[in-house]
This record gives sequence, C-alpha cells and structure tokens, in this order.
Amino acid sequence: MSKTRFNAISAFSGRPKINVEMPSEKISDFYAESVFSDKIIKEYLTKESFSRLQECIKGGTKIDRDLADQVASAMKAWALKKGATHYTHWFQPLTGSTAEKHDSFFIPKGTGGIEEFGADALTQQEPDASSFPSGGIRATFEARGYTAWDLTSPAFIMTVGHGKTLCIPTIFISYTGEPLDFKAPLMKSINALESAALEVCHYFDRNVNKVIATLGWEQEYFLVDAAMYYSRPDLVMSGRTLIGRPSPKGQQLEDHYFGSIPERVYSFMREMEIECLKLGIPVRTRHNEVAPGQFECAPMFEEVNLAVDHNSLLMDVMDRVSSKHKLKVLFHEKPFAGVNGSGKHNNWSMATDNGKNLLSPGKTPRTNLQFLTFFINTIAAVNRHEALLRASVATHGNDHRLGANEAPPAIISVFIGSYLQDVLKMIEDRIDEESFDEQENINLRLDIHNRIPDILLDNTDRNRTSPFAFTGNKFEIRAVGSSANCALPMTVINTIVAEQLKLFKKEVDALIKEGDYKDVAILKVLRRTLKESKRILFEGDSYSDEWHQEAAKRGLSNNKTTPEALKAFITKKSLELFEGLGVYTQRESEARHEIMLINYIHHLQIEASVLSEMILNQIVPAAIDYQNKLINNIRGLKEIGLKETAYKSQLTLLETISLQIEQIIKTEEKLRTENDKAHHLSEVQKQAEAYCEKVKPLMDSIRKNCDELEAYVDDDLWPLAKYREMLFAK
Ligand code: ADP
Ligand code: MG
Repeated sequence: MSKTRFNAISAFSGRPKINVEMPSEKISDFYAESVFSDKIIKEYLTKESFSRLQECIKGGTKIDRDLADQVASAMKAWALKKGATHYTHWFQPLTGSTAEKHDSFFIPKGTGGIEEFGADALTQQEPDASSFPSGGIRATFEARGYTAWDLTSPAFIMTVGHGKTLCIPTIFISYTGEPLDFKAPLMKSINALESAALEVCHYFDRNVNKVIATLGWEQEYFLVDAAMYYSRPDLVMSGRTLIGRPSPKGQQLEDHYFGSIPERVYSFMREMEIECLKLGIPVRTRHNEVAPGQFECAPMFEEVNLAVDHNSLLMDVMDRVSSKHKLKVLFHEKPFAGVNGSGKHNNWSMATDNGKNLLSPGKTPRTNLQFLTFFINTIAAVNRHEALLRASVATHGNDHRLGANEAPPAIISVFIGSYLQDVLKMIEDRIDEESFDEQENINLRLDIHNRIPDILLDNTDRNRTSPFAFTGNKFEIRAVGSSANCALPMTVINTIVAEQLKLFKKEVDALIKEGDYKDVAILKVLRRTLKESKRILFEGDSYSDEWHQEAAKRGLSNNKTTPEALKAFITKKSLELFEGLGVYTQRESEARHEIMLINYIHHLQIEASVLSEMILNQIVPAAIDYQNKLINNIRGLKEIGLKETAYKSQLTLLETISLQIEQIIKTEEKLRTENDKAHHLSEVQKQAEAYCEKVKPLMDSIRKNCDELEAYVDDDLWPLAKYREMLFAK
C-alpha cells in the first residue's frame, strides 16, 4: 500500500475546524490598522511636514533628507508601538514573488543598545542583488543593486505568527539606474500615461490636474488540502499536477460554481480577508469558481501602483493563511488538467483627480465625446500592440490556458458589446466629414448617445470568451495568468495607451491649427482612428475555429507558446515604444525578454526533472507491483489447471499494463535525454524552443500513458493523491 497517499487521506479527513473570530464587530474598526496611512502620518508629523510630504507624493518630487528623517522617525515610533521589531524593504524582483531582507531596529551598543531607524534606512538599502535575475544587466555593469523607497505606496506592518515587521515598498534598481524589478518600469509607464491622458483631458476639462490609472484585479485560485499537496512532488515543485487521471466527476455539473462555499474554505477566506483588510487591501467579493476546488476574490479598485502592490501582498497573505488552515493555495494557471484553469482579470481604467472615470460614458454630448476619445484610443492602442500585450502575459503556466484548449485564446481581440458597436458604427457611417462643420451639428449628433449610461451596463453582454472586454466603465484584461505579477501587463497597457493618446493629440492639434473647431477635429481623428483599428474588434465566440481563421485573415497574431509570444517584446516597434516613452531602454527591454525566457526554461526544466523522478520512483514501481500481482495470479490459475479461457482477460490486462509500463519507461528515457540536451544549448531562445518543442511533447506523452495506467492499477498501490481526492476534499 502506498503510505504517503493514504497518510494524506487520513490526515485530511481528521482535520479539526478552525474558528475565525473577527477582531472587532465592524470592519471599519480595524481596516488598514497595519498601514502607515495618511491618518497615522498626520498624528506623527507636524502640519507643515505633512503637507510637504503630500506635495512630494502627489507631485512626484524628490524628498529632502530632513523630511525623510522626520518620516523615518515617525515610522519607527509607530512601528515600535505596534510591536514591530524589524523592518524590511519590500520589493518585487523578476523572480515573480516578493522579496524581503529583515533588519532589526535594535542596534546593540556595549551591554545595552537602542532602536534606530533614520532617513538612510528608510530611503535606500542594498540587498544582495546577485541572486536576482537581471538578464545580463548586472554582468556587464556593476554587480550591485539597491532598493529605493516608493513613497506613493504606504508602508505596512506584516505579521507572521507573532513576529511583526515594518515593510517599506520599494523599487529595485542596479547601480547604473536600470530597473531590476516589476515596479520601477510600472511607475514610469504610469507617469507616461498620466501626462499623455492629462493633456487629452484638457480638451474637455481645464480643471483636471491629474489623471490616474486604476486597476481592480480578480484573483482566481485553487485550494487543496496541505497533506495532499505535500504528497505530490509535482505540486510542491512545479505548482501543477504533471500527471493525474481526470476525476469521473469534474466540473460538468457546474454545481461548484453555484454551490455554497465549503466550511473549511470559508474559514480560510474569512481569516485571509481579515488579514488583508488590516493591511488596507480593500477585498470585497468572494465566491466559488467554475472548477471544483477553485475560488475567486476581488477588491475595490485602486490606483494601479497600489493595486499591484496589494495583489502581490494578497498572494503572500493567502499563502500564509492557507498553511495555517492546513490548506495550500495554488496560483498556477493550470494545476489540474481537464478542469478550468485560473486567471487574474485586470480591470483597468483611467480617472481624473476630480473623480471622473474616463471610461465611463457621460450624460452630455461633451462628456460622451470625452468617453469616446479614451475608449477609441484604448482600442487603437490594443490594435497596434496586440502582439506585445499577448507577450506581457506569456509564461509557462499561462501557455496551458492561452492557445491551449481554454479561454481566453492567444489571439488578442477587443469585445465592446452590441450597443457600443452601434455607436461606433454610427460615428463611422453616419457622421461624414462634410457634416463636421460646426459645433452645433456635432452636439446634435453626439446627443444621440445621450442614453449610453442608462443602458450600457445592461448591454455589455458578458462575453466570457474575450481576452480584452469592455465591461461598462472599464476594460477587463482576462488573459493575465493567475500567478502573474499584474505589473507587466499594466506597464504595457499604460505605455501603449500613452503612446496612442500622444499620437491622437498631435493629429487633433494639427487639425485645430488648420482651422477646425476642437470638437470637429477630435471627431475627425476619432473616426479615422476607429477605421484603422477595426480589425481588433470581435464580438463572437473567441474559442471557435472560425475566429481563428478570421483572425489570421485580419493579420492578428496567434502566438501559442511563450518562446514565440515573447518575441513581440523586442520587435523594433516595441523597443521604440518603450524607449520613446521612457519605460525601458532598448537594453532593458532585451534584458527583460531574456529573463522571461530564462524563467520559462527553468520552469520547464523543473517540470521535466520532477516528472522523471515521479516516473522512476513512484509510478513504475507501483505499476510493476501490480504487474507482479497479476502474473502471480495468472500463474496460480494455470497451476491449478484452469483453462486459458478462464483467465484470458487477465492476460489481456497484463499485456495492456506491461505495454504501458514499457512505453512510459522508454519515453522517460527520451525525456531525460532531451531535457539534458536543451539544458546544454548555448542560446536562450533556442533553449526555450527546445523545451517547448522537444521536451514538452514528451511530458504530454508520458502523461497520457500514466493517466491510462492509473485506471488499471490497484488503487491500494497507486502512490499519488488522485484528482477526486484533491479536488473534492472539503
Ligand atoms: P466580474 O467578476 O463580474 O467581472 P467583479 O465585481 O468580480 O466582476 O469585478 C469587477 C472588478 O472591476 C472589481 O475588482 C472592481 O473593483 C473593478 N473595477 C470597477 N470599476 C473599475 C474602474 N473604474 N477601474 C478599474 N477597476 C474597476
Ligand atoms: Mg470580471
């Protein structure tokens, strides 16, 4: 009998319930209590220092040393009062998770000591950068990097067990100023978008002083029992099951989606939410997802930099809280074959400092023109850089969703709903250039759309198959993988829209200069832009074969694998885009591209090696055990003189199993050879392609045999937790 698996099953069935108490009756009593928020800062700083700090944050200006010292000592006083003993610069290196290096506030001096924390410790630190990926940047430049305080994202206290640490959100850059993380380029893209959008906003409203990009993510995840998780080497090492026969009951009944949340999961969710709320992460919704064992949570949207930090933090918190509940949260895009994978929808929009959502249709012709401006320009940006957007979500895990048998496809298209389609058609067909003669006329014509806000929300019929959908007052980027850092797709969307808005402004200004009324000029350029971008709009079923053919005709890219998709990151068009808007220099783009390829390679290498181990150490021995059982049985039957017709089927079974075993052993050997060959290739692109084209198919082939074998081998002997045990354990 396979001990690990059955131990896991019995561990799981004896789990005691964990009761989660609310820290207080009302959430507002403890919301953001672990955040060094404005409210707290006000208590600790003088009025004058507080407003100087606000100016630095809002204006993006540099903070002087004196003020940094005051903030540091305020932070220290607050953190010590809250029981923190250590502090850390918290950052998001390109490895995909978050990084921390804790230092104690306490400095021993003689037989005593004091708690210290000043401007230097707050603003800059030097973690050992050599173990973080830099894509060759560090090799050619100085081998050191440093973290620098991001004052736009508030510091917070992270509690792990009884330990409390003050975390300071930072960017991570090399000594030559090149970013080594996700956050620094994101912040540059935010600046680019904000200034481009502000200028366009001024066509409509001179009182706008600032535009911000907003993000509201929806995080999907799976939960499995911790004992099951640890009994599966593939889950522990690669985050997904590399083999495993689909359970007889999968998601076909769709009873999980509508079902109530299992009690154990509910406890986990409550505790996770309480921890998030203390950290100021505005989580609001929770529900079951389509696949069994799959769930989702979503917050209220926030400014994009903060929202990205909060999503990273959420993933940390979920991981920790799940362990406490003897569960394990899986962020992998496709932990289980045959059931839905997980994504992270990124709802994105832009808003003004006077509270207007720029992607929310207005009540007057003028505000509608403003809405249409941002709406159409976003569509145009996606059209121009569809391949880059696809590249921004390309990872080994997401390859199992995009371009595989599951939504959304690898083809980027934009869904806008039937009503807006009509509106756009009207602009294109019914408003001709001749009628663009006077303001009155424009007003009259745009007045047609007065009713947009009343019916829009009902009309954004939920096309679940679209990778980029307009959902009433924001765009929802559904192609993002569940394990991804939102920063990269957000960096790309901010940058491409910034570029498009700049182009738009240039064209409109030129027409105005030639004598057109402002609104006339705007509508003319919008109409032209729309015509040029139409191929990206698609309302139908994105999974259908017809769409794949149609998209090819329209010249849209369909890059199904990461090594292929990532190429779009370093095309001339993308390099110029990033460099032109100051987001990445050419070298940085190339370095990122290399890092992403290396990530891909490493993950596939790990998967292939773990699979080899599981085959040799677990699957083949179990199958041989069963083979022996059958052999002995048949031999026994023969010995007592039974006719062969009495055990003919057993012979067939034995043959089937023996052939499967043979096939698996042979393919595993090939897998090892190809894994080794790929590993030793010198060029990164070639290496990634070898893993994709040579190694991956062998893994798929082994899986097929193993999953068939699982159907035959004695359940008592099968060493790995089965799908039904992992997915339906409640
Ligand atoms: P659904 O699952 O139906 O798509 P949810 O309510 O779960 O919808 O998620 C909608 C998400 O969109 C939430 O995270 C919400 O905060 C976010 N959102 C709403 N308005 C905006 C906006 N203006 N900008 C960015 N995100 C937004
Ligand atoms: Mg959604």
